Amino acid sequence: SAFTDAAAAGSPADGTPAAVPPVLDRLRKTHASGRTRPLEWRREQLEGLVRLLREREQEFAAALSSDLGKNPLESYVTELSLVRAEAEHALKHLEQWTRSRRVPVPLGLAPASARTQPQPLGVVLIIGPWNYPVQLVLAPLVGALAAGNAAVLKPSELAPATSAMLADLVPHYLDSDAVAVVQGGPDVSTALLKERFDSIFFTGGERVGRIVLQAAAEHLTPVTLELGGKSPAVVLDGNWAAVARRLVFGKLLNAGQTCVAPDYVLVTEEAAPVLQKHLVKAVAELFGKDPAKSRDYGRIVNEQHWERLVGLLDSGTVLTGGRSDRDTRYLEPTILTDVDPESPVMQEEIFGPILPVLTVKNLAEAMEFINARPVPLSAYLYTESAAARTEFEEGVRAGSINHNASTVQLAVPGLPFGGAGASGTGAYHGKYSFDTFSQLRPVFTKGTLLDTLRFAYPPYTGLKKRI
Ligand code: NAD
Repeated sequence: SAFTDAAAAGSPADGTPAAVPPVLDRLRKTHASGRTRPLEWRREQLEGLVRLLREREQEFAAALSSDLGKNPLESYVTELSLVRAEAEHALKHLEQWTRSRRVPVPLGLAPASARTQPQPLGVVLIIGPWNYPVQLVLAPLVGALAAGNAAVLKPSELAPATSAMLADLVPHYLDSDAVAVVQGGPDVSTALLKERFDSIFFTGGERVGRIVLQAAAEHLTPVTLELGGKSPAVVLDGNWAAVARRLVFGKLLNAGQTCVAPDYVLVTEEAAPVLQKHLVKAVAELFGKDPAKSRDYGRIVNEQHWERLVGLLDSGTVLTGGRSDRDTRYLEPTILTDVDPESPVMQEEIFGPILPVLTVKNLAEAMEFINARPVPLSAYLYTESAAARTEFEEGVRAGSINHNASTVQLAVPGLPFGGAGASGTGAYHGKYSFDTFSQLRPVFTKGTLLDTLRFAYPPYTGLKKRI
């Protein structure tokens, strides 16, 4: 239609609150028409998504490099290939996920049949952050499409090149009457949240998370919140070089701007000196003597975040790093020791390449430290002791528990990804994405030729004898 063509070309109102209502109208009509229900349509969309990621790989890499200085290979691994794997996984399992499932009927209700039947929710809203600006809108979209929904994507305005690319390209690969990219910042986001959606999937910080939840309450819209927080890494023992490399890798991916990055380290007093020595070595090993020259090291998203991070450097003694450059929004990978738990770096999610190392007496004290704070998105434990791992699993509240690795857990499509408590509600990836965007609807069926329900009707006198 002419409307679709205008949308594909980017209508003049794009990026403003006024653009929102007509988009919603279009998507609601499409969903109501039933077009998004057939598996054929869902398959086409998922295949379109795979094609988009394959054919436009270089353009995406360029946008991500412009927004975040990401190395193309890192962009590929942490953004494009992850979404592709999700889409391919969904394509492979779509038939099985969407199937009705029979549920046994109690004898007293027989003959009858009961089954569950996953249903699309309708028109859903996906709001993304800037740190993985492709992955965090398109991975949820996989679930939304697999489940037969129409979707509005609102990428982050703080990754403008990526946001513009998504707005440009998505209409060429997906059904633009069912999937719309709406660009813009808080004003556009606010306009979207005024509308009635059938589900809202939000990834971002706690502050906006609250705004989303409040807006959703107005329409009784179900919400998934993928938030952040301070994910702790407890270090007891292990192969020190490997432990240090895994911590540094998880922390410095995307220059520390990763929701599941180990935020801070709690290490036992005995192990602290050897761990610190290896952390310094690992930084140099992964990013060279001068990480400013490394092509594998990213930049801070904007000047405001850069300033916030530079301000946090005073929270401890700089063991390595500390150099910065405003013009290029560079911040050297920095390890801080002698950090007071009350200092600024320990009050907020760091979300940058600063790793404070604090000491504790033992695992019990580390767990007490973690549990005294808001529930983190991920908790990491480094030890070779199976008993300590069990103790950690049983004693710590967190969105996920990970032993001897940081951040890589996200690449397992069979694992649900989500927070608990302050780090979020709901989960996705793999089948969990499909479930997040479906209603598991029960269907109960009986015939009327024989009134086999007679025993249940009043008068109730003698009912007990009847059953
Ligand atoms: P943010 O909360 O500032 O912004 C997220 C989105 O909300 C953006 O699209 C933005 O435009 C929109 N927004 C901003 N102000 C708004 C308002 N007043 N009303 C409605 N919408 C508004 O988050 P961010 O800075 O982009 O991302 C960083 C945060 O996201 C960190 O806390 C990080 O831990 C978290 N995060 C979580 C995950 C996860 O999967 N759990 C992944 C990545 C990032």
